[in-house]
Amino acid sequence: MPEIDEISFEQELNRRLDSWRQRRLYRELRRVASPQCSRLTVDGRSLLNFSSNDYLGLANHPELKQAAIRAVERFGAGAGASRLISGSLVPHQELEETLAEFKGTEAALTFATGYAAAIGTICALLGKGDIIILDRLVHACIVDAARLCGLKFHIFAHNDLNRLEYILKGLSTRGFSKHVLIVTESLFSMDGDHAPLREIVDLKDKYGAWLMIDEAHAGGLYGKNRRGLAEAAGVEERIEIQMGTLGKAFGASGGYICGSRTLINYLINCARTFIFSTAPVPAAAAAATAGLRLVRSEAGAELCNLLWKRVGEVDAFLRPKAASQDNNLPSAVIPLVVGAEARAVEASIALRDRGIFVPAIRYPSVAPGQARLRLSVSAAHSAADVASLIKELDVLDLAKPLVPRMTNDE
Ligand SMILES: *Cc1c(COP(=O)(O)O)cnc(C)c1O
Repeated sequence: MPEIDEISFEQELNRRLDSWRQRRLYRELRRVASPQCSRLTVDGRSLLNFSSNDYLGLANHPELKQAAIRAVERFGAGAGASRLISGSLVPHQELEETLAEFKGTEAALTFATGYAAAIGTICALLGKGDIIILDRLVHACIVDAARLCGLKFHIFAHNDLNRLEYILKGLSTRGFSKHVLIVTESLFSMDGDHAPLREIVDLKDKYGAWLMIDEAHAGGLYGKNRRGLAEAAGVEERIEIQMGTLGKAFGASGGYICGSRTLINYLINCARTFIFSTAPVPAAAAAATAGLRLVRSEAGAELCNLLWKRVGEVDAFLRPKAASQDNNLPSAVIPLVVGAEARAVEASIALRDRGIFVPAIRYPSVAPGQARLRLSVSAAHSAADVASLIKELDVLDLAKPLVPRMTNDE
């Protein structure tokens, strides 16, 4: 270990940061001086925004803003304490009632973020000796939860049902008697493809495992009532733990767990990120409730239709062949995988110079050497916005590296 006075704290951190810079993995915050919508004012320039998860354009919607303002007026700015102490305000209770009704579950519990929901829930449900089985591409919050509670984990190749069954069968052959939890995303955040939910549900039933589905990028967008991909696949009632965020299509912020009343009562008592954390500000809960109501309404259906129309326009340019694939759901997340980190950074800068804001997604968000431009389309985009995007991608010759979504599913 270096002597304290040989290498100072600052020098040590700079040495580490230099390594991130050399690998083209260094990241910086940009100052955005506008609300989230189809255009962003970034570092003083107005850019077309293809970077946000605000898929339905609700983050700056007048109904959500009004709901937040009214909540501030009635309930103040802060929540004062954790929900179990004195902070379980009417807006939080209303949000959970609305959420449970929307998802068609007995009950719901909200957390400050989806990240906190995952950590709190997984660590409450599983303990030492239990096993968690994860798709290789699940979100960092789930991997972190598994690490934090010291779980043994098995990872199956992305969407690989044979491998998942192999793991489950192995455990059952060995007579493993503790709990097994399978966790997957329904719509994958960085690849835009989806999990074979029906088959996964069949497998977990066959082997007596529990299942948690992270619908962060699917909630509000898929299924007859826009509850998510579990609804679209008709398997909602067979999933023990449905998780998601209110910060993406729903336009506000907060994480949620939906399921049985017993599950929710258990989490209220045992989820440490719920118990030991100040309740979200009332405005956040009220905005999320307004977002849910909007998604559920006729206006929500129209926004969804508009989103798929825009996605179709981008897809027609980027993946003309993919449209004919069976089982190929549209996705508002469209990755242009370029591989090398430096290439992704350069492509992102070139697009920004031409007025389009698309981030270079790199390790640790994706595997090293799998860097990409992650386009995300919103109902707030106009046909002209999409046409501009396509034109600039074409000029910069960026459409070529696209890996058709099909290869992800294989
Ligand atoms: C964004 C995201 C989360 C975390 O949700 P937050 O509310 O942003 O903390 C969890 N899982 C997935 C797949 C996500 O994309």
